[in-house]
Amino acid sequence: MQPLPKKYNFSEIERKWQQRWEEMGIYHFDWNDTKRVPFTIDTPPPYPSGEFHMGNILNWTYFDIVARYKRMRGFNVLFPQGWDCHGLSIEIQVEKEHKVRKRDVPPDQFRKWCEQLIERYIAIMKDAILKLGCSIDWTTEYRTMNPDYWRRTQLSFILLHKKGYMYQGTHPVNWCPRCETAIADAEVDYEKRQSALHYIRFPLQDSSEHLLIATSRPEFIPACVAVEVNPEDERFKKHIGKKITVPIVNRTVTIIGDEAVDPDFGTGVVQICTYGDKEDVKTVMKHKLPVITLLTENGRIDENGGKYAGLTVNQARKAIVENLAAAGLLEKTEELMQEVGVCDRCKSHVEILERKQWFMKTRTLTDRVEKTANEVTWYPDYMKSRLIDWAKSLDWDWVISRQRVFATPIPVWYCKNCGELILAAEDWVPIDPKLENPHLAKCPKCGGNGFTPERDVFDTWMDSSITCAVHAGWPDREDWKRFFPADVHPSGIDIIRTWAYYLMVRHLALFNEKPYKSCLINGMVLGSDGRKMSKSLKNYVAAPEVLGKYGSDATRQWAAGGGATGSDIPFRWPDVEYGRRFLVKLWNVSRFANKLLSDYDPSEPSEFVLQPLDRWVLSKAEKLTRKVTDAMEKCQFNIAVEEIRNFTWHVFCDYYVEAVKDKLYNVDLYGSEKKVAAQYTLYEVLYRVLQLLAPITPHLTEEIYQFMYAEDKRFESLQISSWPKYNPELENEAVEKNGDLIMTIISEVRQDKAEKKLPLNAPSKTIDIYSGSVETANIINSVKEDLAGTLKIANVRVHPEKRCDCRQISPYDVYFQIEY
Ligand SMILES: [Zn+2]
Ligand SMILES: [Zn+2]
Repeated sequence: MQPLPKKYNFSEIERKWQQRWEEMGIYHFDWNDTKRVPFTIDTPPPYPSGEFHMGNILNWTYFDIVARYKRMRGFNVLFPQGWDCHGLSIEIQVEKEHKVRKRDVPPDQFRKWCEQLIERYIAIMKDAILKLGCSIDWTTEYRTMNPDYWRRTQLSFILLHKKGYMYQGTHPVNWCPRCETAIADAEVDYEKRQSALHYIRFPLQDSSEHLLIATSRPEFIPACVAVEVNPEDERFKKHIGKKITVPIVNRTVTIIGDEAVDPDFGTGVVQICTYGDKEDVKTVMKHKLPVITLLTENGRIDENGGKYAGLTVNQARKAIVENLAAAGLLEKTEELMQEVGVCDRCKSHVEILERKQWFMKTRTLTDRVEKTANEVTWYPDYMKSRLIDWAKSLDWDWVISRQRVFATPIPVWYCKNCGELILAAEDWVPIDPKLENPHLAKCPKCGGNGFTPERDVFDTWMDSSITCAVHAGWPDREDWKRFFPADVHPSGIDIIRTWAYYLMVRHLALFNEKPYKSCLINGMVLGSDGRKMSKSLKNYVAAPEVLGKYGSDATRQWAAGGGATGSDIPFRWPDVEYGRRFLVKLWNVSRFANKLLSDYDPSEPSEFVLQPLDRWVLSKAEKLTRKVTDAMEKCQFNIAVEEIRNFTWHVFCDYYVEAVKDKLYNVDLYGSEKKVAAQYTLYEVLYRVLQLLAPITPHLTEEIYQFMYAEDKRFESLQISSWPKYNPELENEAVEKNGDLIMTIISEVRQDKAEKKLPLNAPSKTIDIYSGSVETANIINSVKEDLAGTLKIANVRVHPEKRCDCRQISPYDVYFQIEY
């Protein structure tokens, strides 16, 4: 056993072990191992944002605790790491950085800029993941922007197309006019925005009367295709089926009845336009109304807007309201707080456009999604309803095409002559149809030899929703099903509707199998003020600052211990500080134990008999093992970290070590058998603490292990030592109860000294303990020497009788009196 250095330098120790573990190759997943059971983690490839924030720290700490724990449990752990590169937000940032619009530069040049930006961002995030000490197998690293990954995305599309899951259709889609692309429901955020409700007169045909319509989108009047009222509404039901004139364009439309109209909102009369909102889409479909397009892809009024053509939506609104007012058709305008859909990347108001898009049939899978979600284990369990509710709420199939540049191309061409769709063959991919023709001499339908490439590309989620299969080695490894479904898919609560959902529908459709066996959900990180952490709220803390100040082990304790799995976790500096103090305490107690054990040979301890206090702490350590193992199995990391810290600090350090150190110093007094028993206990209990902590604070525990245990325990690293097996025979309630009494006596005497302003190690002459029964007296007598030594009392006298006029050892019916 080597002596531990005096000072604990976390940055040095953490850097050292991060490097050494990598050299040892202990994170390496052995694809050919047939003995150990594989355990596969579906690490969600992050979207490189150039920043590793506290939310990421929370995610990766969870992943890594699971990985390290499972490794110690003897599994062959696959902990991969990829990067989900494509996406709108990178395009937006490149446009800003180079002051261009993507349509104005050659696609190759634009792609290259995107790739360069991504590489810069990946470097920053990778550095943080390494500093956090994540036990990733870096030989698995991949980037979804590489053609080798395109191959997988494109192949999955081809297979799903052949199975009938992919189709093209003209259908209303969410459209971001700023980004000029379709976006999925999951990419629409909702924000409260101030707007106005305009009350507009629509003249009834063949009558001098009018109906009053309240709308927040008067600019859509040129695309009004019907006026709608509730058929139960006594005021208006007589008008159903009659004609009404749309002002501004002077077109007549029919008044229709639909129970979806809320008679209490606005005037109870609404205009149906194509498309002012999602309700319009539903109504148009239900009543088979005509569609008048009004917006261009960049959010301007098109030729159907007549004299307003070319204006932006906002300009058109202003002009139309002015014109209505001038014509005497605007009755009034009220302020309105409204929830509007915005693009989650650029925050522009999302419009609804009809455009030809690619879709994946997802709604037909909803029943299977629900059934499968119920078969998956969720940590915590209530999270599964988020997935099920989301799947059931979807109105449309998943629109998987995007009008962007930096993305995986859709491997499809069209015959110039007959329009036939040419789907790439499975062995043509990766392929960019814009750069390469189909590997065919002529169109299989008409024999024509000219082809037009599909210019649309895939939604980023098409790349990242096949990871469970990709991580397992699909499609290249014949035995990939050995590693599939993933044992755990860890994910944030905010992306259940995207990541967990898309993984589910893609894998079910492709392989008729669930993607993951369990789903581990983390909450959001809140600022110290309890609000979501955000730069604009000034409650933001940068992860590198935390890691730099306190190191990984302290930060990981914050992440693991901050709250129940799945709940939101506030970031508080004192929590990290507490984690750091705990590590210092562990280091100091290890150094102390290290000294007390200098003459102890763990490989050949001499004869010993365990004493009551030894058995007490060993039983408590066994109970701890049971609780921590149980918590780890249920992914309750906060319970695990709290149990270990409480035991280490308040049972092991404050009581056991304090109580036995005298025994180790004064062998003459106690005899060497008792000394060796105490040494054995000290040695094994500290080892147990290090092992249980190893998944949570890997660096410091490894450092202590290497100095004190490596020679004897013979694992190359604590990280690959086997997780302690709970032994119910060692957990003994009676032993613990007796020990607890002794510890309470020690604590009360210390309290007495403190009240009398005496130092804790002040010697005293005599203590008289009145135990109230022979049985209790026997228990106390069995540890008389320990009490004498620990409390520095020359003479310990235990009496079986009861005497209540002195100090009580609460809550016991035991009393004492000391002569100092
Ligand atoms: Zn946008
Ligand atoms: Zn053809």
